[in-house]
Amino acid sequence: MNKTIAVIRGDGIGPEIVGETLRVLDAVGERFGHTFTYRDAPMGGNAIDAFGVPLPPESLETCLKADSVLLGAVGGPKWDSQPAENRPERGLLQLRAAMGLYTNIRPARMFPQLADACPLRPEIAEKGIDFVVVRELIGGVYFGEHRTETAEGQQKSVDIMAYTEQEIRRVAHVAFGMAQKRRKRVTSIDKANVLATSRLWRRVVTEVAEAYPDVELLHMYVDNAAMQIVRDPGQFDVIVTENLFGDILSDEASQITGSIGMIPSSSMGEGSRGLYEPIHGSAPDIAGQDRANPIGTILAAAMMLRYSLDMAAEADAVEAAVQQVLSDGLRCGDIMQPGCRLAGCREMGAQICSRIAKK
Ligand code: NAD
Repeated sequence: MNKTIAVIRGDGIGPEIVGETLRVLDAVGERFGHTFTYRDAPMGGNAIDAFGVPLPPESLETCLKADSVLLGAVGGPKWDSQPAENRPERGLLQLRAAMGLYTNIRPARMFPQLADACPLRPEIAEKGIDFVVVRELIGGVYFGEHRTETAEGQQKSVDIMAYTEQEIRRVAHVAFGMAQKRRKRVTSIDKANVLATSRLWRRVVTEVAEAYPDVELLHMYVDNAAMQIVRDPGQFDVIVTENLFGDILSDEASQITGSIGMIPSSSMGEGSRGLYEPIHGSAPDIAGQDRANPIGTILAAAMMLRYSLDMAAEADAVEAAVQQVLSDGLRCGDIMQPGCRLAGCREMGAQICSRIAKK
Protein backbone atom coordinates (compact mmCIF):
# COMPACT_ATOMS: atom_id res chain seq x y z
CA MET A 1 0.00 0.00 0.00
CA ASN A 2 1.01 3.61 -0.56
CA LYS A 3 -0.18 6.09 2.08
CA THR A 4 0.41 9.82 2.48
CA ILE A 5 0.94 11.13 5.98
CA ALA A 6 0.90 14.84 6.86
CA VAL A 7 3.65 15.45 9.40
CA ILE A 8 3.50 18.27 11.94
CA ARG A 9 6.86 18.20 13.68
CA GLY A 10 5.96 21.18 15.87
CA ASP A 11 8.12 22.82 18.53
CA GLY A 12 10.44 21.82 21.39
CA ILE A 13 11.03 18.07 21.36
CA GLY A 14 8.46 17.67 18.53
CA PRO A 15 11.00 17.37 15.67
CA GLU A 16 13.08 14.81 17.64
CA ILE A 17 10.21 12.47 18.59
CA VAL A 18 8.56 12.76 15.18
CA GLY A 19 11.89 12.06 13.44
CA GLU A 20 12.23 8.77 15.32
CA THR A 21 8.61 7.90 14.63
CA LEU A 22 9.08 8.35 10.87
CA ARG A 23 12.07 6.01 11.05
CA VAL A 24 9.83 3.47 12.76
CA LEU A 25 7.17 3.86 10.04
CA ASP A 26 9.88 3.35 7.40
CA ALA A 27 10.93 0.14 9.16
CA VAL A 28 7.27 -0.99 9.06
CA GLY A 29 7.08 -0.10 5.36
CA GLU A 30 10.21 -2.11 4.63
CA ARG A 31 9.04 -5.18 6.53
CA PHE A 32 5.46 -5.21 5.23
CA GLY A 33 5.99 -3.79 1.73
CA HIS A 34 4.28 -0.39 2.13
CA THR A 35 5.41 3.06 1.06
CA PHE A 36 4.67 5.99 3.36
CA THR A 37 5.01 9.42 1.78
CA TYR A 38 5.52 12.21 4.31
CA ARG A 39 4.34 15.79 3.66
CA ASP A 40 5.56 18.39 6.14
CA ALA A 41 2.88 20.70 7.51
CA PRO A 42 4.42 23.47 9.67
CA MET A 43 2.21 24.37 12.63
CA GLY A 44 2.68 26.02 16.03
CA GLY A 45 5.45 28.36 17.14
CA ASN A 46 7.75 27.53 14.23
CA ALA A 47 4.93 28.43 11.81
CA ILE A 48 4.38 31.76 13.63
CA ASP A 49 8.10 32.51 13.16
CA ALA A 50 8.14 31.52 9.48
CA PHE A 51 4.66 32.53 8.28
CA GLY A 52 3.20 34.80 10.99
CA VAL A 53 0.32 32.43 11.84
CA PRO A 54 0.17 29.12 13.80
CA LEU A 55 -1.63 27.20 11.03
CA PRO A 56 -0.77 28.42 7.51
CA PRO A 57 -3.44 27.57 4.89
CA GLU A 58 -0.95 25.38 3.00
CA SER A 59 -0.41 23.25 6.13
CA LEU A 60 -4.14 22.83 6.61
CA GLU A 61 -4.52 21.78 2.98
CA THR A 62 -1.71 19.24 3.36
CA CYS A 63 -3.48 17.74 6.39
CA LEU A 64 -6.88 17.65 4.67
CA LYS A 65 -5.43 15.87 1.60
CA ALA A 66 -3.43 13.27 3.55
CA ASP A 67 -4.55 9.78 4.59
CA SER A 68 -3.70 10.73 8.16
CA VAL A 69 -1.88 13.30 10.28
CA LEU A 70 0.98 12.78 12.75
CA LEU A 71 1.74 15.53 15.27
CA GLY A 72 4.65 15.98 17.70
CA ALA A 73 3.71 18.86 20.00
CA VAL A 74 3.43 22.63 19.70
CA GLY A 75 4.13 25.59 21.94
CA GLY A 76 6.85 26.91 24.21
CA PRO A 77 7.85 29.96 26.26
CA LYS A 78 9.11 31.80 23.17
CA TRP A 79 5.50 32.29 22.02
CA ASP A 80 3.81 32.79 25.41
CA SER A 81 3.50 36.56 24.84
CA GLN A 82 1.61 36.12 21.53
CA PRO A 83 -1.99 37.39 21.59
CA ALA A 84 -4.51 34.60 22.33
CA GLU A 85 -5.68 34.39 18.73
CA ASN A 86 -2.14 33.81 17.46
CA ARG A 87 -0.73 31.34 19.99
CA PRO A 88 0.70 27.99 18.85
CA GLU A 89 -2.16 26.02 20.50
CA ARG A 90 -4.66 28.00 18.42
CA GLY A 91 -3.29 26.20 15.36
CA LEU A 92 -4.22 22.87 16.96
CA LEU A 93 -7.78 24.04 17.72
CA GLN A 94 -8.16 25.32 14.14
CA LEU A 95 -6.89 22.02 12.76
CA ARG A 96 -9.27 19.96 14.94
CA ALA A 97 -12.22 22.09 13.83
CA ALA A 98 -11.25 22.00 10.13
CA MET A 99 -10.79 18.21 10.22
CA GLY A 100 -14.14 17.81 12.04
CA LEU A 101 -12.55 15.73 14.79
CA TYR A 102 -15.34 14.91 17.24
CA THR A 103 -13.85 11.93 19.05
CA ASN A 104 -10.71 11.67 21.15
CA ILE A 105 -9.32 8.23 21.80
CA ARG A 106 -6.82 7.69 24.56
CA PRO A 107 -5.56 4.26 25.53
CA ALA A 108 -4.71 3.58 29.16
CA ARG A 109 -2.30 0.71 28.92
CA MET A 110 0.32 -0.28 31.42
CA PHE A 111 3.34 -2.12 30.14
CA PRO A 112 4.12 -4.88 32.65
CA GLN A 113 7.79 -3.87 32.45
CA LEU A 114 6.83 -0.48 33.91
CA ALA A 115 4.51 -1.78 36.63
CA ASP A 116 6.78 -0.21 39.29
CA ALA A 117 5.79 3.24 37.97
CA CYS A 118 2.09 2.50 38.53
CA PRO A 119 0.82 4.45 41.56
CA LEU A 120 -1.79 1.76 42.34
CA ARG A 121 -1.22 -1.08 44.80
CA PRO A 122 0.82 -3.98 43.29
CA GLU A 123 -2.08 -6.45 43.59
CA ILE A 124 -4.18 -4.12 41.40
CA ALA A 125 -1.38 -3.29 38.95
CA GLU A 126 -0.41 -6.93 38.45
CA LYS A 127 -3.89 -7.72 37.07
CA GLY A 128 -3.00 -5.43 34.15
CA ILE A 129 -4.45 -2.17 32.80
CA ASP A 130 -5.51 -2.04 29.17
CA PHE A 131 -8.52 0.07 28.27
CA VAL A 132 -9.41 2.95 25.95
CA VAL A 133 -11.25 6.16 26.77
CA VAL A 134 -13.41 7.38 23.86
CA ARG A 135 -14.33 10.99 24.59
CA GLU A 136 -16.76 13.22 22.75
CA LEU A 137 -14.60 16.21 21.78
CA ILE A 138 -16.61 19.09 20.35
CA GLY A 139 -19.92 19.14 22.27
CA GLY A 140 -21.20 19.44 25.81
CA VAL A 141 -20.47 22.16 28.32
CA TYR A 142 -17.13 23.24 26.79
CA PHE A 143 -18.97 24.26 23.63
CA GLY A 144 -22.21 25.51 25.25
CA GLU A 145 -23.09 29.08 26.09
CA HIS A 146 -20.97 30.68 28.84
CA ARG A 147 -22.08 33.89 30.50
CA THR A 148 -21.73 35.89 33.70
CA GLU A 149 -24.44 38.31 34.78
CA THR A 150 -25.20 40.43 37.81
CA ALA A 151 -28.41 39.49 39.56
CA GLU A 152 -29.67 40.78 42.90
CA GLY A 153 -26.36 42.44 43.74
CA GLN A 154 -24.08 39.48 43.06
CA GLN A 155 -22.49 37.87 40.03
CA LYS A 156 -23.94 34.71 38.62
CA SER A 157 -22.30 32.52 35.96
CA VAL A 158 -23.94 30.01 33.66
CA ASP A 159 -22.35 27.30 31.48
CA ILE A 160 -24.76 25.36 29.34
CA MET A 161 -24.25 21.67 28.68
CA ALA A 162 -26.11 20.55 25.56
CA TYR A 163 -26.05 17.41 23.41
CA THR A 164 -28.00 16.37 20.36
CA GLU A 165 -28.85 12.74 19.55
CA GLN A 166 -26.59 12.94 16.50
CA GLU A 167 -23.58 14.13 18.54
CA ILE A 168 -24.03 11.19 20.90
CA ARG A 169 -24.78 8.62 18.20
CA ARG A 170 -21.64 9.25 16.15
CA VAL A 171 -19.25 8.94 19.10
CA ALA A 172 -21.09 5.82 20.33
CA HIS A 173 -20.51 4.19 16.93
CA VAL A 174 -16.78 4.91 17.26
CA ALA A 175 -16.72 3.25 20.69
CA PHE A 176 -18.63 0.13 19.62
CA GLY A 177 -16.52 -0.21 16.45
CA MET A 178 -13.42 -0.04 18.59
CA ALA A 179 -14.75 -2.58 21.08
CA GLN A 180 -15.35 -5.01 18.21
CA LYS A 181 -11.60 -4.89 17.51
CA ARG A 182 -10.81 -5.39 21.22
CA ARG A 183 -12.45 -7.33 24.08
CA LYS A 184 -16.03 -6.44 23.06
CA ARG A 185 -17.19 -4.52 26.10
CA VAL A 186 -18.31 -0.86 26.23
CA THR A 187 -18.85 1.00 29.49
CA SER A 188 -20.86 4.17 28.89
CA ILE A 189 -20.31 6.77 31.59
CA ASP A 190 -22.86 9.43 32.47
CA LYS A 191 -24.70 11.09 35.34
CA ALA A 192 -28.19 10.00 34.27
CA ASN A 193 -29.55 10.21 37.81
CA VAL A 194 -29.14 14.02 37.66
CA LEU A 195 -28.53 15.39 34.14
CA ALA A 196 -30.95 15.54 31.21
CA THR A 197 -28.03 15.34 28.75
CA SER A 198 -26.95 12.12 30.46
CA ARG A 199 -30.42 10.57 30.18
CA LEU A 200 -30.38 11.33 26.45
CA TRP A 201 -26.82 9.98 26.29
CA ARG A 202 -27.88 6.71 27.93
CA ARG A 203 -30.90 6.25 25.66
CA VAL A 204 -28.98 6.92 22.43
CA VAL A 205 -25.99 4.74 23.41
CA THR A 206 -28.41 1.92 24.24
CA GLU A 207 -30.04 2.27 20.82
CA VAL A 208 -26.67 2.27 19.03
CA ALA A 209 -25.72 -0.90 20.94
CA GLU A 210 -28.45 -2.82 19.09
CA ALA A 211 -26.34 -2.63 15.93
CA TYR A 212 -23.44 -4.35 17.75
CA PRO A 213 -24.91 -7.54 19.26
CA ASP A 214 -21.43 -8.99 19.80
CA VAL A 215 -20.49 -6.12 22.15
CA GLU A 216 -21.60 -6.01 25.79
CA LEU A 217 -22.84 -2.61 27.03
CA LEU A 218 -22.73 -1.45 30.64
CA HIS A 219 -23.72 1.93 32.09
CA MET A 220 -21.91 3.56 34.99
CA TYR A 221 -22.29 6.87 36.81
CA VAL A 222 -19.25 9.12 36.49
CA ASP A 223 -18.56 9.35 40.23
CA ASN A 224 -18.49 5.56 40.46
CA ALA A 225 -16.31 5.37 37.31
CA ALA A 226 -13.71 7.70 38.87
CA MET A 227 -13.50 5.26 41.80
CA GLN A 228 -13.54 2.09 39.71
CA ILE A 229 -10.63 3.29 37.52
CA VAL A 230 -8.33 3.24 40.55
CA ARG A 231 -10.04 0.35 42.39
CA ASP A 232 -10.36 -2.18 39.56
CA PRO A 233 -9.15 -0.81 36.18
CA GLY A 234 -9.00 -4.33 34.73
CA GLN A 235 -12.82 -4.35 34.35
CA PHE A 236 -12.73 -1.77 31.52
CA ASP A 237 -12.23 -2.38 27.82
CA VAL A 238 -13.74 0.67 26.03
CA ILE A 239 -15.11 3.62 28.01
CA VAL A 240 -17.33 6.08 26.12
CA THR A 241 -18.30 9.38 27.66
CA GLU A 242 -19.09 13.02 27.03
CA ASN A 243 -16.57 15.85 26.78
CA LEU A 244 -16.20 17.08 30.39
CA PHE A 245 -16.31 13.63 32.02
CA GLY A 246 -13.89 12.34 29.36
CA ASP A 247 -11.44 15.18 29.94
CA ILE A 248 -11.17 14.29 33.62
CA LEU A 249 -11.33 10.50 33.36
CA SER A 250 -8.78 10.27 30.54
CA ASP A 251 -6.22 12.18 32.64
CA GLU A 252 -6.96 9.92 35.61
CA ALA A 253 -6.55 6.90 33.35
CA SER A 254 -3.20 8.16 31.97
CA GLN A 255 -1.84 8.78 35.43
CA ILE A 256 -2.32 5.20 36.61
CA THR A 257 -0.26 3.78 33.74
CA GLY A 258 3.04 5.54 34.46
CA SER A 259 4.96 8.14 32.44
CA ILE A 260 3.49 10.93 30.35
CA GLY A 261 6.11 10.14 27.68
CA MET A 262 4.56 6.74 26.91
CA ILE A 263 0.96 7.62 26.07
CA PRO A 264 -0.53 8.16 22.61
CA SER A 265 -3.81 9.73 21.61
CA SER A 266 -5.87 10.10 18.47
CA SER A 267 -8.69 12.33 17.38
CA MET A 268 -11.12 11.11 14.73
CA GLY A 269 -13.99 12.52 12.68
CA GLU A 270 -15.98 11.11 9.79
CA GLY A 271 -14.03 8.67 7.65
CA SER A 272 -10.80 7.00 8.53
CA ARG A 273 -8.45 10.01 8.67
CA GLY A 274 -7.32 10.99 12.16
CA LEU A 275 -4.88 13.20 14.04
CA TYR A 276 -2.37 11.16 16.05
CA GLU A 277 -0.12 12.59 18.75
CA PRO A 278 1.44 11.87 22.14
CA ILE A 279 -0.47 13.30 25.12
CA HIS A 280 2.47 15.35 26.38
CA GLY A 281 3.54 18.84 25.31
CA SER A 282 6.68 20.15 23.65
CA ALA A 283 8.85 19.74 26.78
CA PRO A 284 11.01 22.84 26.13
CA ASP A 285 13.12 22.00 29.20
CA ILE A 286 14.70 19.01 27.43
CA ALA A 287 14.38 20.06 23.75
CA GLY A 288 17.42 19.51 21.54
CA GLN A 289 19.25 17.39 24.13
CA ASP A 290 18.40 13.91 22.84
CA ARG A 291 16.59 13.22 26.14
CA ALA A 292 12.96 12.99 24.97
CA ASN A 293 11.12 9.70 25.10
CA PRO A 294 9.73 9.07 21.59
CA ILE A 295 7.56 6.09 22.62
CA GLY A 296 4.29 8.08 23.06
CA THR A 297 4.60 9.33 19.47
CA ILE A 298 5.68 5.92 18.16
CA LEU A 299 2.61 4.34 19.81
CA ALA A 300 0.48 7.13 18.28
CA ALA A 301 1.80 5.98 14.89
CA ALA A 302 0.81 2.42 15.82
CA MET A 303 -2.72 3.70 16.52
CA MET A 304 -2.67 5.40 13.11
CA LEU A 305 -1.73 2.12 11.44
CA ARG A 306 -4.52 0.29 13.26
CA TYR A 307 -7.39 2.78 13.11
CA SER A 308 -6.76 4.96 10.02
CA LEU A 309 -4.70 2.81 7.66
CA ASP A 310 -6.27 -0.60 8.42
CA MET A 311 -2.88 -2.16 9.14
CA ALA A 312 -3.48 -4.17 12.31
CA ALA A 313 -0.54 -6.57 11.90
CA GLU A 314 1.77 -3.61 11.32
CA ALA A 315 0.43 -1.89 14.48
CA ASP A 316 0.97 -5.12 16.42
CA ALA A 317 4.58 -5.22 15.17
CA VAL A 318 5.28 -1.69 16.44
CA GLU A 319 3.70 -2.37 19.83
CA ALA A 320 5.59 -5.66 20.13
CA ALA A 321 8.87 -3.88 19.32
CA VAL A 322 8.18 -1.31 22.06
CA GLN A 323 7.44 -4.14 24.52
CA GLN A 324 10.66 -5.85 23.44
CA VAL A 325 12.94 -2.86 24.07
CA LEU A 326 11.36 -2.44 27.49
CA SER A 327 11.85 -6.13 28.25
CA ASP A 328 15.47 -5.77 27.12
CA GLY A 329 15.96 -3.16 29.84
CA LEU A 330 16.27 -0.02 27.70
CA ARG A 331 14.77 3.16 29.19
CA CYS A 332 14.60 6.86 28.37
CA GLY A 333 15.25 9.23 31.27
CA ASP A 334 11.58 9.71 32.20
CA ILE A 335 11.04 5.97 32.77
CA MET A 336 14.54 5.06 34.00
CA GLN A 337 14.63 2.27 36.62
CA PRO A 338 17.48 0.73 38.60
CA GLY A 339 19.27 -2.01 36.64
CA CYS A 340 18.14 -0.64 33.26
CA ARG A 341 20.24 1.07 30.58
CA LEU A 342 19.62 4.74 29.74
CA ALA A 343 18.92 5.51 26.08
CA GLY A 344 18.49 8.85 24.34
CA CYS A 345 15.70 9.63 21.90
CA ARG A 346 17.70 8.55 18.85
CA GLU A 347 18.88 5.29 20.34
CA MET A 348 15.38 4.40 21.54
CA GLY A 349 14.07 4.99 18.02
CA ALA A 350 16.86 2.94 16.44
CA GLN A 351 16.38 0.03 18.86
CA ILE A 352 12.64 -0.10 18.17
CA CYS A 353 13.33 -0.05 14.40
CA SER A 354 15.78 -2.93 14.71
CA ARG A 355 13.15 -5.05 16.50
CA ILE A 356 10.57 -4.30 13.81
CA ALA A 357 13.00 -5.36 11.10
CA LYS A 358 13.38 -8.77 12.79
CA LYS A 359 10.61 -11.20 11.89
P1 NAD B 1 4.98 18.98 28.81
O1 NAD B 1 4.13 17.79 28.62
O2 NAD B 1 5.63 19.53 27.59
O3 NAD B 1 6.12 18.67 29.89
C1 NAD B 1 5.84 18.32 31.25
C2 NAD B 1 7.06 17.58 31.83
O4 NAD B 1 7.13 16.27 31.26
C3 NAD B 1 8.39 18.26 31.51
O5 NAD B 1 9.27 18.11 32.60
C4 NAD B 1 8.93 17.49 30.33
O6 NAD B 1 10.34 17.47 30.23
C5 NAD B 1 8.36 16.09 30.59
N1 NAD B 1 8.09 15.38 29.33
C6 NAD B 1 7.05 15.61 28.48
N2 NAD B 1 7.14 14.80 27.43
C7 NAD B 1 8.24 14.05 27.60
C8 NAD B 1 8.87 13.04 26.83
N3 NAD B 1 8.38 12.62 25.64
N4 NAD B 1 10.01 12.48 27.29
C9 NAD B 1 10.52 12.87 28.47
N5 NAD B 1 9.98 13.81 29.25
C10 NAD B 1 8.85 14.41 28.82
O7 NAD B 1 4.06 20.08 29.50
P2 NAD B 1 4.36 21.65 29.78
O8 NAD B 1 5.77 21.83 30.20
O9 NAD B 1 3.26 22.07 30.65
O10 NAD B 1 4.14 22.36 28.36
C11 NAD B 1 5.20 22.74 27.49
C12 NAD B 1 4.60 23.37 26.22
O11 NAD B 1 3.85 22.37 25.52
C13 NAD B 1 3.61 24.50 26.52
O12 NAD B 1 3.85 25.53 25.58
C14 NAD B 1 2.26 23.87 26.33
O13 NAD B 1 1.29 24.81 25.94
C15 NAD B 1 2.55 22.90 25.22
N6 NAD B 1 1.60 21.75 25.13
C16 NAD B 1 1.31 21.31 23.88
C17 NAD B 1 0.47 20.22 23.70
C18 NAD B 1 0.20 19.75 22.31
O14 NAD B 1 0.89 20.13 21.38
N7 NAD B 1 -0.79 18.89 22.10
C19 NAD B 1 -0.05 19.55 24.82
C20 NAD B 1 0.30 19.99 26.11
C21 NAD B 1 1.15 21.09 26.24
